[in-house]
This record gives sequence, structure tokens and C-alpha cells, in this order.
Amino acid sequence: MLIFDFDGHLGDGTEAIFYDTDQVLFWSLHQYPAFPGNGYINEIGTGKGKGFTINVPLPPGSGDDIFLKAVEEFMPIAEQFKPDVVAVSAGFDAHLYDLLLGLRVTGSSFHKIGLMLRERFSHVFAVLEGGYNLEYMPRSVFNFVAGMNGQEIPYPEDTTSSAWKIWENFDMDVQGALAQLAPFWKLR
Ligand SMILES: [Zn+2]
Repeated sequence: MLIFDFDGHLGDGTEAIFYDTDQVLFWSLHQYPAFPGNGYINEIGTGKGKGFTINVPLPPGSGDDIFLKAVEEFMPIAEQFKPDVVAVSAGFDAHLYDLLLGLRVTGSSFHKIGLMLRERFSHVFAVLEGGYNLEYMPRSVFNFVAGMNGQEIPYPEDTTSSAWKIWENFDMDVQGALAQLAPFWKLR
């Protein structure tokens, strides 16, 4: 099973449960630094589970461009893993108007992620996690579900882009993460 966690926080409990197994690939995108504090690129699992935890830290201020790049960069690993089932920790607190976090993702990205999952995997289910703006969270859910079902986006939003300094930090972490995962996966 692949657990794909795009909630804006690290799924720290999920990570801990599956940290030492190669039966579950845990892949989390999250703001870093943020609660609960860990979730950096050096956390890739332990023992048999080494290489089966992927942490993608997103600097505060990351917009749609970085969020989608974070998905694209690591999706080849998720596909290589050939999961029988994909469980999605679908939290929407990476949203621009979320009240807890400082990411700048819009509902358009959630729709695109839904589409990407639909295109690549046949057995996908999602569980609702965070989202603390009660006006935007439901729209994000509808956008994501529409993507998963191959439908048009019901609540389109103008996409956001990230400042170059944020890109620079993000890119460094991505390269670092890929370097650590390289012994376990075929990378580009
Ligand atoms: Zn969260």
C-alpha cells in the first residue's frame, strides 16, 4: 500500500507506524518547519523500511508551482512501488487561505492531484484530514474529488507561484531527498 499524505502537516503518526516496513510506502508533503517539528528529508525509514518513507519539506510561502513539482518529482517512486492500494491522507490545510499554515496552494492543485492519481492508480481511496478555513476547505474537497472522478474543476481558483528564494530552498531539499532515496529506487 502507498500512503500519499498531502495534508500540509507531516503525518507523524502514520510515518512512525510504518517506519520500519517495506510493505507500505509513506509519502508526505508538508510545510517545513511546522508542527510537529520533524519530517525532514533525512527521515527515509529504518531497517527493512529504509527507502520506504519519503518526506518532502515545503518552505512556508510555497505556491501551486512548488506543490505540484513536489508531486511530480516523487511520483516515479510511487509508481515503481506498484501499490495494490493507494490511501490518500487528504488534508487541505496547504491552502492559501488556511488559518493554520503558511503555504499558498489553491484548489486548482487539489483538482490536478486528483487527476494525477486517477491516471496512475486503479485502487485509490481518500480520508479527509486537515483544513481549517471552513469556506475554502469544502471547495477544496469537491475539487479533489472531481479530479479523482475525471470531472471538470467545480471551484477554480487563480493559481499561485512561489518566490525564487523559496524555489531555491525547495530545490535543494528535493535534490537532497532524491540523493538519499537513490540507492532504493530507479530515478531519472
Ligand atoms: Zn494538517
